[in-house]
Amino acid sequence: MVKVDQEKCIGCGACVAVCPDFFELKDGKSVIKDAKADCDVDAATEACPTSAIIV
Ligand code: SF4
Repeated sequence: MVKVDQEKCIGCGACVAVCPDFFELKDGKSVIKDAKADCDVDAATEACPTSAIIV
C-alpha cells in the first residue's frame, strides 16, 4: 500500500510527472488518485524530494 505523507509533501508534482494516473495534486498536495493504476512506484519514490511517499 502506498501513502503520501501530507505533512512532508510540498506539492512539487514530481510523483505526478512519473505516474500521472496514480497520483494527482489536490489543494497543493499529492494524493493517490488510483491505487490500481500502472505506476513505477519506486521511481516516483526516488523522484520525491521530501521522501513523502511511503510504500
Ligand atoms: Fe509531494 Fe513528493 Fe509528490 Fe512532490 S514528489 S508532489 S513532494 S509526494
